[in-house]
Amino acid sequence: MSNPSTSNTYVPSGGPPFVGILFCPECNNMLYPKEDKETKTLFYACRNCSHKQLAKNKCVYVNKIVQDVDELRNIVPDVVNDPALPRTDCHPCPQCGRQDAVFFQAESRRAESEMRLYYVCRNSKCLHRWTE
Ligand SMILES: [Zn+2]
Ligand SMILES: [Zn+2]
Repeated sequence: MSNPSTSNTYVPSGGPPFVGILFCPECNNMLYPKEDKETKTLFYACRNCSHKQLAKNKCVYVNKIVQDVDELRNIVPDVVNDPALPRTDCHPCPQCGRQDAVFFQAESRRAESEMRLYYVCRNSKCLHRWTE
């Protein structure tokens, strides 16, 4: 165990811009990421003055939601009849409450997002798809 006070913490000091931290062009204070719930955009705001700017990576946030919805939509309900897929009775369907679903791990198209488990309800009148 190394002593934390002697560890080499990287402190940006006028070097190349440190990705992830932005500074206010008006007053040089640190900008804090904020989420606009109405427009679903990410922006940075200064706590010292009223400066605000849209985050350059705002697409990350929006794309993640779109991507999840897309992937759920791409699941073919027929997978419930696939005998190769594992079934679970301990993940009740959020729509009909039935505890009979197939699940599988979908490899995401985006390398940075984690592997997720997708569930499909085996109730033939429901076939609800959801993810954890
Ligand atoms: Zn400012
Ligand atoms: Zn269901």
